[in-house]
Amino acid sequence: MPRTGDPKVRVTRSARRKKTVAARWDGDVVEILAPAHMPERELQDVIDKLTSRLTKKRARKAGLSDDDLARRAQRLNREYFEGRLRFESIRFVTNQNQRFGSCTPAHGTIRLSERLRRYPEWVLDYVVVHELAHLIHPNHAPDFWEVVNRYPLTERARGFLIAVSLVEDEVDSVGEEGAPEDTG
Ligand SMILES: [Zn+2]
Repeated sequence: MPRTGDPKVRVTRSARRKKTVAARWDGDVVEILAPAHMPERELQDVIDKLTSRLTKKRARKAGLSDDDLARRAQRLNREYFEGRLRFESIRFVTNQNQRFGSCTPAHGTIRLSERLRRYPEWVLDYVVVHELAHLIHPNHAPDFWEVVNRYPLTERARGFLIAVSLVEDEVDSVGEEGAPEDTG
């Protein structure tokens, strides 16, 4: 039984295939190569299994999606900001190699380097809390850190990011998009 969100499936039956069913991605479509004489019901079971396997594999490879990230941000908003922060969008971007995150409070937009997908989740959570806190404090003043330090692994995560970072100073920017501040 297909569920919403399942990929489209295209079945090609081939007289040359004897027993096995093969599945592969063709863009966003799962292409199934099936033996010509396999009964429909038996084939459907195999298709379900192979499709689910391919979908899981692809999701694993991609890491956290933007939707996962948005859900995480809302959870952290509830946990550390009493759920009162409002923001327009939060997503991963590929063009942020110098910095791990950026926040444009005026637009309520938060961007995170996709490198964070590869780091432990507690590090990602720190960066999300950090960027969320910029919605209240668009700077790195003591008030800002007071808010960020509600997240208990802040110091550890900062150490982690400094260690993996080639640049030694701060790891994000606040302000207009594309115009990084000196955030030292
Ligand atoms: Zn910052």
